[in-house]
Amino acid sequence: MKSLLVLGSTGSIGKQTLDVVRAQAGALRVSGLAANSSWAQLAAQAREFHPRFVAVIDREAGARLAPQLPEGTSLICGPEALSEICRVAEYDTAVHGVVGACGLAASVAVLERGKDLALANKESLVMAGAELMEIARRSGASILPVDSELCAIFQCLRGERLDRVRKIHLTASGGPFRDSDPSEIEQSSRERALAHPTWSMGPRITIGSATLMNKALEVIEVHHLFGLPLERIQVWIHRQSIVHSMVEFIDGSVMAQLGPPDMRGPLHYCLFHPDRAASDLKGFDLGLFSRLSFESVDAARFPALQLGYDAARRGGDAGAVLNAADEIAVEAFLAGSACFGDIVRVVASVLPLRASPRHGVAAALLADRDARRLAREALERIHASKANQQ
Ligand code: MG
Repeated sequence: MKSLLVLGSTGSIGKQTLDVVRAQAGALRVSGLAANSSWAQLAAQAREFHPRFVAVIDREAGARLAPQLPEGTSLICGPEALSEICRVAEYDTAVHGVVGACGLAASVAVLERGKDLALANKESLVMAGAELMEIARRSGASILPVDSELCAIFQCLRGERLDRVRKIHLTASGGPFRDSDPSEIEQSSRERALAHPTWSMGPRITIGSATLMNKALEVIEVHHLFGLPLERIQVWIHRQSIVHSMVEFIDGSVMAQLGPPDMRGPLHYCLFHPDRAASDLKGFDLGLFSRLSFESVDAARFPALQLGYDAARRGGDAGAVLNAADEIAVEAFLAGSACFGDIVRVVASVLPLRASPRHGVAAALLADRDARRLAREALERIHASKANQQ
């Protein structure tokens, strides 16, 4: 029986992880649950799964959660709760579904203990990929990518040598604007940007799929996780989200991993890794998916993608800068205080301002803090110039 620590248990990835646990009750159990503030959901999950520890970051939520917990479950509460539960709970694999830069410290805590990390928090690798890989190498931990594209590449590379890879073909659905004019995308509404054609995900990643910033982050992740140079990573618009990515080898052979767009697939794979366990998830149906298409990415429509390559080429703390500026700009867009086009505009202005060759977890956290401030300033300037034009 494998025991799991679920970080971000009330979010999209966390809930789907618990679905997999329910479907595999004899093989998986939950030893810890952690969330930001959704105490009522967390209480219901604790009563269902009886973990040894529950962590909640928000203190007020913690106070409301405490009397709701079942006997035998201890509460960890406060700003350090996420890292703390990673250090004290007993588990084989931590599933990390927390969204945002705030998830980096937890990734470090899991890997330093030598525990396997089923990673959906892409910010960790984007901000400090080289260091995380180094910590994992030292402690003997594995980073198992939950993100469907990275999980596909991970599966295609099983038993293969990295120096035999010619190219990674990373697929992107293209999001809701894959056929829109750049001018139309610029002023798109929140509702349109959140209407993803194939995947159901949290709001930040859904907006990232509309700008393609999500794919920009994945380029950086692939670069670190598999140690591959950027010129060997190519992105394709693949509308059906069935081919989750492909690896081309030096002999011209291409391996792909296919399946319906359902995160429970990669989660199931990571939770049982290195084994392959039975599941009742649907497989690839040739009848349903007879038409698969691959198109190159239009740079005018999706300028965010190039920013990912730029940040990876700069190295150092540039990934952290890219991510933080995007988090702030997406927040502003979702709050209605920025237009869709401002997201990439803000990130493009902050990246050259703040990116530096300093690397490491501490440098990434500093860059994250500065880039947030610079992104807020950039948003204010955009706001002011729009007000002047009116
Ligand atoms: Mg993905």
